[in-house]
Amino acid sequence: MTDDLNSITERLEAVRGRISTAEARFERPAGSVTLLAVSKKHPAEAVRAAAGTGQRRFGESYAQEAVTKIAALADLDLEWHFIGPLQSNKTRDVAAHFDWVHSLDRLKLARRLSEQRPAGLGPLQVCLQLNVSGEVNKAGCQPHELPELARAVSQLPNLQLRGLMTIPARSEGFDAQRRPFRLLRQAFEQLRLTGFELDTLSMGMSADLEAAVAEGATIVRVGTDVFGARQ
Ligand SMILES: *Cc1c(COP(=O)(O)O)cnc(C)c1O
Repeated sequence: MTDDLNSITERLEAVRGRISTAEARFERPAGSVTLLAVSKKHPAEAVRAAAGTGQRRFGESYAQEAVTKIAALADLDLEWHFIGPLQSNKTRDVAAHFDWVHSLDRLKLARRLSEQRPAGLGPLQVCLQLNVSGEVNKAGCQPHELPELARAVSQLPNLQLRGLMTIPARSEGFDAQRRPFRLLRQAFEQLRLTGFELDTLSMGMSADLEAAVAEGATIVRVGTDVFGARQ
């Protein structure tokens, strides 16, 4: 259930506090980690309340739900990030309504997004989703596929490749949480060494954002701790 709108303000403050504490603790520059507020399964009013505190970037996982919400909030200047499983029949909506896609893991989908991006919107900002946890989580490309996918995606005219994203299998304990994020950062650094100009590491959620900041996250995607539990 969505928290009442006043408590969203308090929760946002608390999450921002956690981010700045983690930045200081892990010697990251203040302000180097961006909060993406994940509003999937929460109503437009909850997003509006969050926007009232200055939050501008929101993440959604289901294209149909998001398109309705984005239209209802068109009077606000918000940035929308698609973070959910991408399907061929949803790429048109995603290309038309979102500013970013974090969950790109196949060239076929990348080509569709680039072809379907409306002229005049500017390139869609994309991250490649990497599967760093082995077979536990099926989404994301495999590490050995990454260099070729990055090369092909970076040549598509209406996409701008910004970085990498991962959703690790759940693990308990700070060191265990850091491990998959370290793998993502190493893959990111490897791509940069081979000439890709990347600036985004999208990793960390409500339960593990500190571990992600420790390993270099530039965007953390937080839903539950901002908006409350989802149905
Ligand atoms: C739902 C979701 C989140 C937010 O997860 P919380 O645990 O609620 O913070 C982050 N990233 C992705 C890809 C998600 O689907």
